[in-house]
Amino acid sequence: MADNHSLELLIQSLRRLPGVGVKSAQRMAFHLLQHDREGAVQLARALEHAAGSVKHCSLCHTFTEDELCPTCRDPRRDHSQLCVVETPADQAAMERTGAYKGLYFVLMGKLSPLDGVGPRDIGLQKLFDRISSEADLREVILATNFTAEGETTAHVIAQALKGRGVQVTRLARGVPVGSELEYVDLGTIAHALVDRR
Ligand code: ZN
Repeated sequence: MADNHSLELLIQSLRRLPGVGVKSAQRMAFHLLQHDREGAVQLARALEHAAGSVKHCSLCHTFTEDELCPTCRDPRRDHSQLCVVETPADQAAMERTGAYKGLYFVLMGKLSPLDGVGPRDIGLQKLFDRISSEADLREVILATNFTAEGETTAHVIAQALKGRGVQVTRLARGVPVGSELEYVDLGTIAHALVDRR
């Protein structure tokens, strides 16, 4: 097997991707090496570049290559509202509705006690610090997913924000139970935003 070390290393590396087992990793590796060497090199360069240059926005925690992301830098955003979402994909879904003009905080995860993911792992303190530092903030909109973990996360944040002088709302239940925002159609999200409680 010594002469196949490179191939083995590639397959092991591909298995780091979520949902990719040995068979899928082998299929990807064989495809790249057999049919798309150019794509393989491009993928390697893109990965190396992104891993070296993408970091977290110092205000909202989303991915960005600068100190602040474009949304946080935009002077037209409404600083009275802060929307809390789980992932950059969920943030993008909210943005696509065009119905929200406020600020964001991206948790980059969700509370999941069964998997050992606690408040510290998803940067909740950073969220609370942000809320304290936004002088004009009046409302925090909890737009975590309508899954068990998303609901738990929203509940914990809502409890922690009691008595902090900001209104805390949750996206309305037009969004199907168990669904992730990223996959919900735009009209439904826009309605859930308007009907938030
Ligand atoms: Zn930002």
